[in-house]
Amino acid sequence: MRQQLAEWDQAGREQAAIRAAEQHLMQPWPAAEDIGAEARMYLEQAEGIMVEDGAGNRLIDGPAGMWCVNLGHRHEGIARVLYNQAMELSYCSPWYTMSKQAVELSQRLAAHAPGDLNHVFFTTGGSSAVETALRFMQFYNNVLGRPEKKRIVTRGGAYHGSTYLSASMNARPRDGDWMDQARDLVLHLSEPKPAPGLDAAGQRALTARLAQEFRDLIAREGAASIGAFVAEPVQASGGVVIAPEGYLREMRQICAEHDILYISDEVVTAFGRLGHVFASEAVFGIQPDMITFAKGVTAGYFPLGGVMISERLLERIRQSNHPEACFAHGLTYTSHPIGCAVALKVLDLLEAGDLERVRRLEPLFRARLESLRDLPIVKEVRSIGLMACVELATGKSDAASLAIEQKMGKRVDLHCQKLGLLVRPLINMCVISPPFIIDEAVIERMVAILREGILATIADLQ
Ligand code: PLP
Repeated sequence: MRQQLAEWDQAGREQAAIRAAEQHLMQPWPAAEDIGAEARMYLEQAEGIMVEDGAGNRLIDGPAGMWCVNLGHRHEGIARVLYNQAMELSYCSPWYTMSKQAVELSQRLAAHAPGDLNHVFFTTGGSSAVETALRFMQFYNNVLGRPEKKRIVTRGGAYHGSTYLSASMNARPRDGDWMDQARDLVLHLSEPKPAPGLDAAGQRALTARLAQEFRDLIAREGAASIGAFVAEPVQASGGVVIAPEGYLREMRQICAEHDILYISDEVVTAFGRLGHVFASEAVFGIQPDMITFAKGVTAGYFPLGGVMISERLLERIRQSNHPEACFAHGLTYTSHPIGCAVALKVLDLLEAGDLERVRRLEPLFRARLESLRDLPIVKEVRSIGLMACVELATGKSDAASLAIEQKMGKRVDLHCQKLGLLVRPLINMCVISPPFIIDEAVIERMVAILREGILATIADLQ
């Protein structure tokens, strides 16, 4: 395709872009039959909470990009920071230099992080943050003279990234069907998903059963072979799965008893999605050994992630018998000054009111989404902070109905798109995680569109 995007007139631009994408652009998660032919919605611009497609239709950005554009699109203040930082110091090598912005950000993150998590290793996003945490666990155990303590425990429904080790933990439907995973290194526990409407006693019983499952696994496999337990505080891409009451505290306690490092994957939940900079302690009452983060740290304006690491772990390494040991790990864009400058601005904005805003909007957001429960195909609504999932079911268990169920999220999404809302479809689920700048009126509008989209889906099925 010789023609350049810029030369196309507005009317033809969207179609031409889709044709060009089919020939040249490979998108994430393509099915084999769709590689090079799966058109995605073509966006030309966005402002605040709205995105605009090639035909000029404006839609509410229900998923905030990919749980990341938390402060909205076209944020003048953040854009200025990007520009100014590029003009001041656009890059410096983390191997032998460091920037004021990286140092200041490390200080501010340490002040927000729970317990003694006072060091940060910056990466380029969430997968590289998780990969870094796991490689650090390996290094830590090598230095402590226990190279066999490396296996990783994770849960059904988990999503931790797309690099080899992080992806080896992924355990949602189809994650491992056609992709290699380091299966010898990873052990899976059950998805911590309470049944719809489970009462407090049922939640406690489920927590006890899941904790026992972890204890049994440790007894069977041996604590000496297990280096880390990795858990999202809320399983995001698994469908906003909120573990039963007390579950994360129990798992934390079991890890401490067996010297297994607890890695809290806060790639989605950190930086305000649950109303706090980090959610592990503020919301769930746990102090992990490491916290991974990305996405919201730069509100989607620059690729940045990182791992908060406990002082206690670093001290054990410093005190080891191997002063020559090297954590041979680093990325060209580790501690990127533009990413760090943007993150400092994002922290300013969160501290100045956006964290409080999320906490204030949470009850209304939950109540409005829960109002969808009266619809016959809505099986469950899960919501915490400003993230929610509407799970759909036909109520029938024959093969044809189950096949329809697999695509129900997508069906609702397509109807909602026509009505002016983007949702994130996940098999039979619709995930909503709007930018924090949303207000009461837009929440009402979003839920009204979702209702219409679900009703249109019900009509399709009749
Ligand atoms: N961890 C969690 C919990 C995630 O949800 C994701 C991405 O959605 C990742 C890690 C991977 O992050 P990234 O896509 O920035 O590599």
